Amino acid sequence: MQTFDFDLFVIGGGSGGVRAARMAAQRGARVALAEVAAMGGTCVNLGCIPKKLYSYAAHFAESFEESHGFGWVGEAPILNWNTLKSNRAREITRLNGIYVQLLKGAGVHLIEGWATLVDAHTVAVGGQHYSAKSILVATGGKPSVPDVAGSEHVITSNEMFDLSPFPQRLLVVGGGYIACEFASIFNGLGAQVTQLYRGHQVLRGFDEEVRAFIASEMVKTGVTLHLNTDVAAIERTADGLQVRLLDGSHVTVDAVLYATGRVPLVAGLGLEAVGVAQNEAGAIQVNAQYQTSVPSIYALGDVTARLQLTPVALGEAMVVVDQLFGPAAGQAPRGMSYDFIPTAVFTHPNIGTVGYSEADAIEKFGKVRIYRSDFKALKHTLSGSTERTLMKLVVDDASDRVVGLHMVGPDAGEVVQGFAVAMKAGATKAIFDSTIGIHPTLAEEFVTMREPVKR
Ligand code: FAD
Ligand code: NDP
Repeated sequence: MQTFDFDLFVIGGGSGGVRAARMAAQRGARVALAEVAAMGGTCVNLGCIPKKLYSYAAHFAESFEESHGFGWVGEAPILNWNTLKSNRAREITRLNGIYVQLLKGAGVHLIEGWATLVDAHTVAVGGQHYSAKSILVATGGKPSVPDVAGSEHVITSNEMFDLSPFPQRLLVVGGGYIACEFASIFNGLGAQVTQLYRGHQVLRGFDEEVRAFIASEMVKTGVTLHLNTDVAAIERTADGLQVRLLDGSHVTVDAVLYATGRVPLVAGLGLEAVGVAQNEAGAIQVNAQYQTSVPSIYALGDVTARLQLTPVALGEAMVVVDQLFGPAAGQAPRGMSYDFIPTAVFTHPNIGTVGYSEADAIEKFGKVRIYRSDFKALKHTLSGSTERTLMKLVVDDASDRVVGLHMVGPDAGEVVQGFAVAMKAGATKAIFDSTIGIHPTLAEEFVTMREPVKR
């Protein structure tokens, strides 16, 4: 029988790779993990965590403003950008250490460096070859910037966290998650933000009403939104970066953030040589078991370019581990369902959503009922803020099942997470109606909407 150095070799210490390595080692497998950068991957170092910390920082601006209506007096404090950056860096370093400790504690053999596939059972790192019965590719993705005149002047989300000095005037290009979140965050932190999106409305794929509602809320908070246009060219001038738009107008800024999507991180991995099939965008193709075209090589997370979300990578990792090494004691093997995956966009205010948009539900189910509430939150009766909250339910008329739930409002991600459980369980509108609200909250609105606004 062929012997291997390891049962599992994981390439990439991000959300998916760390989870898979740790869980596999805890099941008794001999596991190695290679990581070329800081442990924790995109989410910990350049994504979810630093982004959310900066979002918290940005929310203080509106809180100081709103506090006056509640009797607080005095000037609002000013942001020390360097303090925020260094506190964030300290916390991320602490998390990197925790990840390393967790992996080592589970018995994972950590290898620093760039890993390359050599053959179906061999990985090379820094000239050293390691054999493994199974290999898991969890190398994530990286920002993609289109070819535009002057693109050498632009930055991506990777550079945003440590910008120096703070960009007083920021242009954000794109209308997706990252563009909207960073536009909101840097606006809250005090930058003058212009967001540019080539389409008719930001956040393509989200419910149309949610898209229009968040766009109008972001504009109210001070973001200048230019739709239906794009960058023609970017030039450095004495006054900053001068950006010429396709509609003929100009904007001069200190930084241009391109948030125009991410591509799988596959270059230099040796996929072609080993025969791992990729799609035309470079994403590794996998079957329902996360197995690539080379049966001993698995792939998951952003490198497979399906849903690029940390909890999705974590869920996929658990499935792979259960398949390869059996489930945890006393548990059934996990499966991964891509239905009703909740998601939040950490704009100001947040978006929380799970299930179908109104348009997609009509396409899928035919007849639907729409329940909708658009209101001023209790807090803003005194705060002076003009912020409004949107809550919307999409119900399949035939089965009465709630198939879409959408919110734009404070802490929408927190609110929607619990409702996602109910929707996975198949909750009907009648069950929502029979649920007693928690008063006074925003969330209670989801169980008190009685009359459909549309059928
Ligand atoms: P990653 O976390 O990207 O990890 C891949 C790792 O592999 C990296 O550490 C990389 O250095 C390493 N690597 C790559 N190639 C090699 C190699 N050849 N050898 C060795 N190591 C290698 N998701 C959410 O759910 N919520 C959010 O709020 C959220 N916010 C985000 C904000 C931003 C700005 C960004 C960019 C992403 C955000 N995401 C968010 C998405 C989330 O970060 C990703 O979906 C998630 O990190 C994917 O995990 P992964 O394991 O597939 O890859
Ligand atoms: P998205 O795919 O969400 O958005 C990309 C945006 O860039 C779209 O508006 C797209 O427009 C636009 N775009 C694409 N190509 C071009 C181009 N050539 N010129 C001009 N505009 C272009 O990607 P992001 O980079 O925002 O984020 C990547 C992924 O990371 C997200 O999809 C999400 O899965 C994950 N993420 C999750 C977060 C969360 O959970 N809160 C936060 C941040 C990221 P169009 O729609 O017209 O194609």
